[in-house]
Parts: sequence; C-alpha cells; structure tokens
Amino acid sequence: MYNEPFADTTIIGCPHCDLLQRLPELAPGASARCPRCDKELWRHRADSLNRTLALTLGAALLYIVANSVPMLGLTIVGRAASTTVIGGAEHLWSNGQQMVAVLVLLTAVIAPALQIGFMLAIVLGAHRERPPRWVGTLLRHHPTTRTWSMIEVMMLGVLVALVKIADYATVIPGMALFVLWVLVFLLAGIQASFDSREVWERIQWAEDGARRSSAREQTAEGTT
Ligand SMILES: [Zn+2]
Repeated sequence: MYNEPFADTTIIGCPHCDLLQRLPELAPGASARCPRCDKELWRHRADSLNRTLALTLGAALLYIVANSVPMLGLTIVGRAASTTVIGGAEHLWSNGQQMVAVLVLLTAVIAPALQIGFMLAIVLGAHRERPPRWVGTLLRHHPTTRTWSMIEVMMLGVLVALVKIADYATVIPGMALFVLWVLVFLLAGIQASFDSREVWERIQWAEDGARRSSAREQTAEGTT
C-alpha cells in the first residue's frame, strides 16, 4: 500500500522544521531557502548530471591509480621499503593493530570505492530516459558512504606521521600521496556539482508511471 502523493509536486516539506512550502523555478546557481528556519532547501546547479559524471569518472580513475602505486617509501640505515594504502593496512594487521587496520581499510579504501561507485551508477542511471528505481535506493544510501569515506582524515594523519618520523628515517612521498590529495578535491567537487533533486524528479515511481503523468497533467491544467 502506497500513499497518494500531492498532485502538485512542487510542494515540499522542509526536512528541518517540516514547514510545507512551494519551491520556485530557479535559475542555475540560485538557491531556495526555508522562510522559517533559513535552511537551504535546493540549489539549482548548472548542468549538474554531466559535470558530476565527468568528475566521478576522474575520481574513479584516480582511485584506481592511488591504490595501485606506492603511497610511502621509507629508508632506514640503508634498508628501503615502500607500501600502498592496502599494504599499510596489512602491515597494521600483522603488527597486532587489527582494529586500526579494519578502520583504515573501511574509511580509506572500501567507503571511498562505494562512494565513487554509487555516484557513478546514480549518474549513469539518471542519464536514461526513465531512471529505474534502484537509482533511488543508491541515492538514499549514498550519504552513508560519504560519511564513512575519510581519505582527507587519513591524509592529515599521514602528514603528521611524516613530520614525526622524519627524524629517524628518510621518507619518500609516493605517487599515491599526491593522487589522493587530488582525489580529495575531486570528491568535494562531486558534492558541489551534484543536484539530487534533479535525479529524484526523474526516478520511476513505485506503482507505475501512469499516476505520475496524470499528476503532471493535473498540475499543468491547474496552471493554465
Ligand atoms: Zn525549515
């Protein structure tokens, strides 16, 4: 059993104070705020889907590079060693730091992969004429992957470690370190260019498309 939606789909509830209101047509770049709690409800981003797709493809490529080349090299009294991000987690695990290893793997490898993968699937799905319902499922879970993706936190940790061990060993920053920094900015760029409302508006409804189009027609008749 599904609820009957309002025929007028421009009416929304503020997610913070529940005030019902009507979203205006916005020029690209403009934003609409709730009159009661001042929360930004929608920012109309120009060419959102294409820009997000380009940034996400770039991020996917950088992610693959960042996880296949060394992140850090160390030279201590003539002995040299280098490690990738995943290699670092393996070292932690074998040195008795299982909890930290799992956290590093989750926040720096798995969550970013899901974040990029979900976004890629959402944007590619939304490019279809009528995006399928799984796009909505991914869209709902994408913020969780974003919350757990903490590459920038790991990068800060690495910087601190670099400074601390510089006295004892020669540290050679690996290629992955630079790639990861660029990736941090790309992920922020995806966030800034993505307009979830644009995707929600196009996703197929639960029962069928008929009700949706009839709702559309009613609004059209009401306004003419
Ligand atoms: Zn509000």
